[in-house]
Amino acid sequence: MLLTLADIRYVHRRHFDPWILFERLRRGANLSLIKVAINGFGTIGKRVADAVDAQADMEIVGVTKTGPSFGCELAEKRGFPLFAASDDSEMIESFEESHFKCEGGLSQLLSIADVVVDCAPGKLGQHNLSKYKYAGVKHIFQGGEKHSLTGLSYSSSANHSENLNAEGTRVVSCNTTGLSRTLVPLSEHCGTLRVECTMIRRSADPGDSKRGPINAIKPVLKVPSHHGPDLKTVTSDIEINTLAVAVPTTIMHVHSIIVDLPANHGLDSQSIAEMWKKTPRVIVMEGESNRITSTAEVMEMARDIGRKWGDLHEIFVWEDGISVIGDRLYFFQAIHQESDVVPENVDCIRALMGVEDDWRNSVSMTDSAINQYYSL
Ligand code: NAD
Repeated sequence: MLLTLADIRYVHRRHFDPWILFERLRRGANLSLIKVAINGFGTIGKRVADAVDAQADMEIVGVTKTGPSFGCELAEKRGFPLFAASDDSEMIESFEESHFKCEGGLSQLLSIADVVVDCAPGKLGQHNLSKYKYAGVKHIFQGGEKHSLTGLSYSSSANHSENLNAEGTRVVSCNTTGLSRTLVPLSEHCGTLRVECTMIRRSADPGDSKRGPINAIKPVLKVPSHHGPDLKTVTSDIEINTLAVAVPTTIMHVHSIIVDLPANHGLDSQSIAEMWKKTPRVIVMEGESNRITSTAEVMEMARDIGRKWGDLHEIFVWEDGISVIGDRLYFFQAIHQESDVVPENVDCIRALMGVEDDWRNSVSMTDSAINQYYSL
């Protein structure tokens, strides 16, 4: 194999470990691509794996499962090498009893990766962090973990530059990503915002049979809820308090948002809608005239777009629900909880690897590669 300049730069970045190099060459790797491991191939993990696989500058070197369950079929179909989610021999052997080929334990996967995207269920972070540090691999956690785990969080439009070359971070939750997408450009336009938001949360994901409620409206009695402080981990220009209510639906969250704009903001509902129409990963549409007046129609439209699983990476804002009265803005937005964080994880990989300084360039690369991948 002939090494290119990019390969040599890459090997240099990894502090040249001959074992890693040998392993990679043995597996026929293209050394210039960022090697990404996915630990936890569930709702978020399988989506991030596809989004990474779509990119020209990175590749999936392996995904983990805790045993030979139904997600393994998908990994096999996509050609993602399958590893056990730990080094426990019983877990590794459990795959041998099935027809799925397990390439080894988590340590083996980490040894050939530049960065691991941790998509394990929330609260396992502390346990996994020590493994990533021991392996010397960069790491990205999800919103189910606390900011204090890494002391750094990520949202593409809010703080990409703050995350450049960091060893580890956390992509904020689906709700916080939604808040960041619309509020950050607004605050960049007119200064500090004071925000009150009620988050109307889906009770469970469509593939989840354990959570509820299924016939109740359940307020989160911790007031304010954790979502407001979470936004402050990626931006300091937004004062925000949030309340949350869980409702019996599986398909989306809705945010009902009130923003106190600074005096002399010079904005009206139309100019705010126009601003968001130019904002990446935000869709603004008239609800009444398009007959898209609820999350049911928003998700139907998402299925028409044609991404796998009917995903909607964008935040949906109802244009006719935007209203400015004096210095106060009112609006509603809907969040597809299973997928809005997916492209953010791809941008976050580029930030940690220090390969793209400008968040807008990364977002545009990520999104156009995903569109091509799904032939959209
Ligand atoms: P999930 O339960 O759908 O998937 C988790 C996967 O990890 C499963 O395949 C599970 O088998 C596997 N797993 C279990 N134990 C593991 C371990 N010890 N090590 C590695 N993998 C293990 O969960 P999810 O919804 O994909 O959530 C993953 C993370 O993403 C959580 O932090 C969650 O809070 C966050 N998140 C979820 C959503 C959502 O709507 N589902 C949205 C944004 C962020």
